[in-house]
Amino acid sequence: MTMSAWERPWCGSLRIEDVGREVELVGWVRRRRDLGGLVFADLRDRSGIVQLVFESEMLGEGEQLSQQDVLRVRGIVRPRAEGQANAELPTGEIELSVTAVELLSKAETPPFVIEDDTNASEELRLTHRPLDLRRPVMLHNLMLRHRVVAAIRRYFDEMEFVEVETPILTRSTPEGARDFLVPSRIHRGAFYALPQSPQLFKQLLQVAGIGRYVQIARCFRDEDLRADRQPEFTQIDVEASFVAEEDIYTLIEGLFRRVFPLVGIEPPERFPRLAYDEAMERFGSDRPDTRFGLELVELGPLCKGCGFGVLESAAAGGRVKGIVLPGGASLSRKQLDGLNEIVRPHGAAGALWVKRTAGDIVSPAKKALGEDGCLRFAEAAGASEGDLLLMVGGPEKVVLAALGALRLHLARVHDLIPEGRHDFLWVTDFPLLEWSEEDGRFYAMHHPFTSPRPEDVDRLESEPGAVRARAYDVVMDGVELGGGSIRIHDPAVQRRMFAALGIGGEEARARFGFLLEAFRFGVPPHGGIALGLDRMIMLMAGLDSIRDVIAFPKTTSASCLLTEAPSAVDPAQLAELGIGVIGKSEG
Ligand code: ASP
Repeated sequence: MTMSAWERPWCGSLRIEDVGREVELVGWVRRRRDLGGLVFADLRDRSGIVQLVFESEMLGEGEQLSQQDVLRVRGIVRPRAEGQANAELPTGEIELSVTAVELLSKAETPPFVIEDDTNASEELRLTHRPLDLRRPVMLHNLMLRHRVVAAIRRYFDEMEFVEVETPILTRSTPEGARDFLVPSRIHRGAFYALPQSPQLFKQLLQVAGIGRYVQIARCFRDEDLRADRQPEFTQIDVEASFVAEEDIYTLIEGLFRRVFPLVGIEPPERFPRLAYDEAMERFGSDRPDTRFGLELVELGPLCKGCGFGVLESAAAGGRVKGIVLPGGASLSRKQLDGLNEIVRPHGAAGALWVKRTAGDIVSPAKKALGEDGCLRFAEAAGASEGDLLLMVGGPEKVVLAALGALRLHLARVHDLIPEGRHDFLWVTDFPLLEWSEEDGRFYAMHHPFTSPRPEDVDRLESEPGAVRARAYDVVMDGVELGGGSIRIHDPAVQRRMFAALGIGGEEARARFGFLLEAFRFGVPPHGGIALGLDRMIMLMAGLDSIRDVIAFPKTTSASCLLTEAPSAVDPAQLAELGIGVIGKSEG
């Protein structure tokens, strides 16, 4: 008898109620113990494990079971012997008394322990990814991802959104990263670009009249990688016609309230909103983690004439702000010096500290500011006895970024993030354009199709830096989960936006002509958002690397250790494409 694959129970599904049932199971041997003539083995599949008991003769002469062997067994579900139940295992009250066993595949000793708690480096895990994915925690992540995506599709279907696929072989799209290029064989010397996002296509679908679009879309950006970035990643890409900001907010709040409860997180009915400027001033970040305090305080006005040249000139030429670490006066000199390493990468010279201890002030600034001067700073910042004030001065961008980083560092090191708390919020009122000192020009903060606020449009030429955008980001626990905007639908405004970005008429036509052309024939006002699916699953699973929620990810140096991509190709393939390689990178 072989049971139909679809009727066969999963190993982890059997319970005390199943006692007496005759079943067939398949799976991998997890561990094995021989007790005289009896063999006890755990059989595992993606659902969990079950204990098998059988007589050693059943295995045939000289046969031994090893870990990771693949078996098919038949047997009767029995209660475990008195005192042998395992309360930690869902199947812990029963075992399968095996009547027939078939070894389907013999396994060699795996290169690392295939358990949640493994001894393998990430490199080894990625090289042997199928074995890594066989670890219960990894299979769990993949199954969670599947359930979340299924719930997302159901939600958008109920909201009458239509999933439409958009091309992977396309031309450069406007998210501002480097493109991945694909050479064309048929059009020698011409290249497709992989989409950085389906941005232009989803807007064109609004021109088409689809009204509500969604896509679980793969996007490609050739950027330097970090723990939460991959060269290819997945977005929940959304666009709708005749909508305003509020419509997008309620849509996404509804989505999160549907999806996050799958892991026991209950987002609020409405998410708080924070304007970009306020987020930067209070938290030094446009994706603030609001689960703890340590807000940035203004100290600039106090610096004027304070007697400490460093602070005076920092305030005169830029900003001086600080944060207070409650109880931080007990930090050692070494710990305080260590904080400089946190602020320096952001361009700050260092963090100036003032300790307020019982009846005394300790600070490298004490000589210049005097005890009273130091106390004035401490009081203004709200530092009480036992607290530590940290100050950073310099250009605004530097001060905000440095203190923003310091704030996160202190919260992590001093355990200030309440266990189990999750904060969702909207960051709104982003600037439309961002000035680049390096290039001496403006860039779109979001992308060039983001609408300016109507009341700001007339400043596009006179005061481009002051124009606010109809753009928004959704943030959870200090992680940007997504962003979007209401788009420009007036071709004249679109041209002015291109001009502000230094994109002339000719270049605009060459790069985005198809969009401008479509906009001539009746374009509905529209807007949308894209959410990072990988990051969302990462947060839901309580992890801090997106590589753990992607089946086959790349390393931080953008290679796949499993397939060894990217790899050299046959010279004949290159010749066919008309491509020659000049110089190779090391390794
Ligand atoms: N295309 C944008 C992005 O990928 C999102 C959007 O504006 O909808 O960031």
